[in-house]
Formats: sequence, structure tokens, C-alpha cells
Amino acid sequence: MSEPAKETRGLVVVHTGNGKGKTTAALGIVFRALGRGMKCGVIQFLKGKWETGERKFARTIPELDFHVMGLGFTWDSDDLDKDKAAAEEAWSVSARMIQEGNHNIIILDEITYVFHYGWLPVEKVLKVLKERPRHVHVVVTGRNCPEVLLEYADLVSVIEAKKHPYQSGIPAQKGIDF
Ligand code: ATP
Ligand code: MG
Repeated sequence: MSEPAKETRGLVVVHTGNGKGKTTAALGIVFRALGRGMKCGVIQFLKGKWETGERKFARTIPELDFHVMGLGFTWDSDDLDKDKAAAEEAWSVSARMIQEGNHNIIILDEITYVFHYGWLPVEKVLKVLKERPRHVHVVVTGRNCPEVLLEYADLVSVIEAKKHPYQSGIPAQKGIDF
């Protein structure tokens, strides 16, 4: 009997849950893929306040398109409409990147926050994922990933928070956290 056909195609991967490691695991995939000569794109939907190691490093890697756009820290923001517009802009860059098919792997980092705030309907993202070029892998990270996206994904990892140094009063560490 012949072996079942092995199907090769782009995957949708979700890293969700309350534990640490969602973004770092996605960046680990990028590290690995770059080693394979694959073209990667990262869109960070949360800007945060501080520079991060990954952002600094990304600037030195030509095969990596790294975009930091989308939400600032909302509790700092005096203009929520601005955040909504930024989230929409981040999605339009992401959608274009997915549809063009020039990248093998695209990371939508913290995109789930955009769903949470109601700034982007998950159905809109799902439609683009479903119609994406066959070879494109997409990795979604963020807490509270909507159920429809979990259902559609090929790979879902829910990272559990068992213990975090934050609970012992240890602040975020350079290299480990940012
Ligand atoms: P990382 O970017 O480190 O992989 P993450 O993407 O899984 O983390 P986020 O929700 O994006 O998690 O939060 C990023 C920051 O919050 C990191 O500095 C991380 O150490 C911290 N963090 C993540 N999970 C927890 C937790 N359960 N308790 C406290 N801090 C956390
Ligand atoms: Mg993260």
C-alpha cells in the first residue's frame, strides 16, 4: 500500500494563553526560517513604550520586514480613534503582505488585542487567511484568541502561566522580556 500523500502547504499557527512565550516562540520561528533563507515579515500590533531587542536586531536583517505599528498603550492615549486608525493601518499592511505572497512566514504579533478592542472584526482577518497564497505561513500571537480563529488554525498552542518572576517582584529583564 502506498503512503498517504504528504500535503505541503502554508499553516496558520496560533500562540495564545496567559503564559509567557507567545511572541518569543513566534520570533524563534523567524530565526529558524531566516536560517533556511526564507523571507519573513513581522507586524507588531502593539507598539509598547520601549525599544526592544527584536526591533533593534531586525534592522540589521534585510530578509526580515519588521513593522511596529498599531496600538500605543491605550491607557496613555488621549485619542482612541487614533489607535483604531493605527490598528486598521497595521492590518492593511499585514493583509497586503499576506496576499502578495512574497513572504514565506508572516507573524501577526498581538493582533488579538485589536479584536479585543473591537477595532477589527476577526472575520475580516479570517477571510484573508482563507484566501492566502498556498505557500504562506501565518503566525498569530496574543491572549484571548477568538474561537473562530482557533478553529480555523492548523496549530494552536495555549501557553499556561505557571509561574512568572513578576509575581516575586522581579521586573522585566533585557534579553528575556524585551
Ligand atoms: P514574550 O514576548 O516574552 O514572549 P508573550 O508574548 O507570551 O511574552 P505578552 O502578553 O505579549 O506575552 O506580554 C509580554 C510581556 O509580558 C513580557 O515581558 C512577558 O515576560 C510578560 N508576561 C507574559 N506573561 C506573563 C505573566 N503570566 N505574568 C506576568 N508577566 C507576563
Ligand atoms: Mg507577546
